[in-house]
Amino acid sequence: MTSETLYGDSLPTRGLPAGLYIVATPIGNLGDITLRAIDILRRAAKIACEDTRHSRKLLTALTIPGPERLLAYHEHNADHIRPALMAAIENGESVALISDAGTPLINDPGYRLVADCRARDFLVTGLPGPSAPLLALSIAGLPTDQFFYAGFPPRKPAERLTFLQTLSQIPGTLVFLESPHRILRMVMDAATVYGDRQAALCRELTKLHEEILCLPLPALAEALSQRESLKGEIVLLIGPADKTQDSAQDGLSAEERLDEALQHALETLSLRDAAAMVAEALAHPRKDVYKRALALTKK
Ligand code: SAM
Repeated sequence: MTSETLYGDSLPTRGLPAGLYIVATPIGNLGDITLRAIDILRRAAKIACEDTRHSRKLLTALTIPGPERLLAYHEHNADHIRPALMAAIENGESVALISDAGTPLINDPGYRLVADCRARDFLVTGLPGPSAPLLALSIAGLPTDQFFYAGFPPRKPAERLTFLQTLSQIPGTLVFLESPHRILRMVMDAATVYGDRQAALCRELTKLHEEILCLPLPALAEALSQRESLKGEIVLLIGPADKTQDSAQDGLSAEERLDEALQHALETLSLRDAAAMVAEALAHPRKDVYKRALALTKK
């Protein structure tokens, strides 16, 4: 591919135009860097990144010189560094923004910087590339006509259940990020709230031990509980409710499904909250569910 093909008919010969360049970087396999990303990282006056030590390794691996152009920009120093980056752009410099991996702003820093640059009418442009949530969607075999990116669920069990509950009516595939330490608990909670919806656990994407586990939520919870330990980075996808699906498909009667969901919810929620959550999730009358929850606690 020639330079002309890369840049159309506006081949830049010297420095880059002043502005902010959002540059995606690999999420595991270094070969996933794009030719444009390498070019912009070579030529940018400054490269804002989450962790300079981490990004220095990326530049070294890609044989991109000038590590002194790296500048840490993360949640703890963003308010202090952002004005300096804005001033650099105003003074005619090009600033590239990268994150530790994948596409900046997708669960990574950069939102305020982009918003502020836009408010000042600075050039803001992007160099697309890897992103774990999108890659997971494209290979999992779950519906992709509509999806909802939910990010990391809350760590506290009660908050997580409520969070999952608030997403239960979304008519598309749900996309979560989760740590390997919490994934089993998260999948168990998801099974409580969403029943036997189809799920895909996408682990270590683009890396040596890439693994995609496609199972209904209860079976996925069971499979994970058999594992001694689970390592690596994970995207969890949960397909939309299948309106035509028979609720007895997983072998449970409606009563058994109700009891199972209640028992799980009662581990972390009060009687009232557990009943309300399960009633909503399983579309049962709240009064009946409360009565059943009361009976279960007296057993
Ligand atoms: N901006 C990144 C992107 O576009 O992919 C996401 C950043 S987020 C802070 C990091 C999380 O993304 C990880 O904890 C994991 O849940 C997910 N992730 C990143 N790389 C991954 C990979 N190779 N395989 C599976 N999940 C990954």
